[in-house]
Amino acid sequence: MRKKLVAGNWKMHGSLPENRALLDAIISPIGTFEGVSCAVCVPFPYLFQVQSALQGTSIAWGAQNLSQHEKGAYTGEVSARMLSDFACSYVIIGHSERRSLYREDDKTVAAKFVAAQAGGITPILCVGETLQEREAGVTEQVVARQLDAVIELAGVKALDDAVVAYEPVWAIGTGKTATPEQAQAVHAFIRGKISALAVDVAQKLVIQYGGSVKASSAAQLFAMPDIDGGLIGGASLVAEEFVAICRAAQTGA
Ligand code: PEP
Repeated sequence: MRKKLVAGNWKMHGSLPENRALLDAIISPIGTFEGVSCAVCVPFPYLFQVQSALQGTSIAWGAQNLSQHEKGAYTGEVSARMLSDFACSYVIIGHSERRSLYREDDKTVAAKFVAAQAGGITPILCVGETLQEREAGVTEQVVARQLDAVIELAGVKALDDAVVAYEPVWAIGTGKTATPEQAQAVHAFIRGKISALAVDVAQKLVIQYGGSVKASSAAQLFAMPDIDGGLIGGASLVAEEFVAICRAAQTGA
């Protein structure tokens, strides 16, 4: 059985005192949960703070982006090696905000995926369609294309050390959650696609759902057979919401 993973994506939010208060409020309740992995993916400047606060707890931490390059003249960029200096377990790759606002294409996302793994960090690979693509009936083609770019570069076995997050773009930060059935259909498609290449990889692969998940919608989403937890944006900034979402992902919850 796959262990569910709930990861918070703080996006560009926080401050030293706000982070401290949020971490203080989530560490002990989440520490009592069983059968669920929890993590927070934070802005780069707060990695040291989060590492100091979370080491020795049950909550892992990570970043929201990295460079596809190992090192060099890339002003403003952050490498996988730098993230591992702060013991990051995870890095979000190909978030729709990066794909749309920063023009990250499938090839760049795939290169970032490879760079993360080369640095010993588990990539959380985001895939998902826009509303226009859903309405045009091409959701599966879009998700397949995004996955194929990574599989072509890294090989299907690379998904053994990765997480996939299905995040329909129309559901991110909009308050519109996919229904459990809509999400399950795409998760099953993703698992089926990987399964056609490597059954063992597909069975182990953690596929998170992301898109306006709240405490009130988490349990129903997580009850679906191919939904293995969530990537949580806005609700991860509210301690009680994030704790409740992690609680809903516990084994047998
Ligand atoms: C996200 O940023 O990955 C996300 C899912 O955001 P939200 O939960 O706010 O929709």
